[in-house]
Amino acid sequence: MKHIMEHEDFLGPIKNVDDSKCLSASQYYSFIATFMKHLHSNIPANDYLDFSRPAHIEIRDDFFRGKNTKRAVVFLLSNGCEWALKSAHGCTMCGHIAKQARKDQPISTEDFVTQFETAFSTADIDGIPVLNIFNNGSFFNDDELPREARTTILNLINKNKNIKRVLVESRPEFITPSVLQETKSLIPGTELEIAIGLETTDDIRRSISLNKGFSLRQFTDAANIIRKNDIHLRSYILLKPPFFSERGAINDAVQSIETAFSLGVGAVSLEAMTVQKYTLVEYLYNNNLYQMPWLWSIVEVIKRTAHLGRVIIGLFKFYPSPDSVPNNCPLCNNKVMDAIIEYNKTLRPDVFNQLHCKCKEDWKEVLEKSSDYYDNLRDFILVEKNKDSILRSA
Ligand code: SF4
Ligand SMILES: [Zn+2]
Repeated sequence: MKHIMEHEDFLGPIKNVDDSKCLSASQYYSFIATFMKHLHSNIPANDYLDFSRPAHIEIRDDFFRGKNTKRAVVFLLSNGCEWALKSAHGCTMCGHIAKQARKDQPISTEDFVTQFETAFSTADIDGIPVLNIFNNGSFFNDDELPREARTTILNLINKNKNIKRVLVESRPEFITPSVLQETKSLIPGTELEIAIGLETTDDIRRSISLNKGFSLRQFTDAANIIRKNDIHLRSYILLKPPFFSERGAINDAVQSIETAFSLGVGAVSLEAMTVQKYTLVEYLYNNNLYQMPWLWSIVEVIKRTAHLGRVIIGLFKFYPSPDSVPNNCPLCNNKVMDAIIEYNKTLRPDVFNQLHCKCKEDWKEVLEKSSDYYDNLRDFILVEKNKDSILRSA
């Protein structure tokens, strides 16, 4: 797949700093792919090879059909996201490839089914109406989850009449009318929700900051197919991709949520950045080129967008857990997280009205000092160029 900006010279501002260090768009993508490849090359060899072990399953809080309820989340072990395994080497914040993916040998249809079936049949999910299935990539990509495995899993779900809604994730290029119609026909009494990691509606920054490899146009096309098939659409909006300032990140998330709803998204999951191993974000964080978002910034985005539709806050619950998560100060972290959890139960932003802490002044100062996106990008590129390291081979 070609990068959407491949032939455009979008890195103009960098030229002004030092002509000898300017990068064309295609050079930048080559650079970032090489960088990601280098990071992934440090992933230790797999510590286990049992692809047919029961999938990890968690029971989490949910808010479904106007009620506080639970959802079951199944994490399948997979061979990894195709986008991360191809020449682009995946998205810059994604740690799946280092955690829940195993490349030693192809995982068979039978193994996928066994993973799901053993977890699903032994977990205590009686009365839980929502089921999420995560496969570290795209549920509808036959090369990541074989069609036979997918259809068998859906048939198993269909036998459990407690499940009222199933949520799966996919990149937009795998959303087709036929795969959606097939999926719906296999779970006729159950609602389907598809989550797409749109992250930001800014095409250029999705590309530069996240190496995401799809455009808003592709997302919109997939959204239209999903809507025409009466399927629920959720989009993940990411708070503070690399190179964004704190203020720029807030504004981008607000703008992206507004645009997502205008495109027919039914629910937004606001995902604030976390640090996961073997990612560009981890590299930037360790080299003082990235600071975690503040919890106050999450609160600010919600205050500005909750009236637009169903905006849920992701609780940084990845499996396994990330190394660093958004925070304020030790005095108020727990209090603000409690309010965030309460907000998810009610979707009422007034739960944040009573929150005060002296660190809020520090956060406001950070907002005032906002750095420029292209300056931050340039710092990263120049640091790497000056190190005479990976870029040379790009
Ligand atoms: S974020 Fe999604 S599309 Fe990107 S590498 Fe991870 S699993 Fe693949
Ligand atoms: Zn505080």
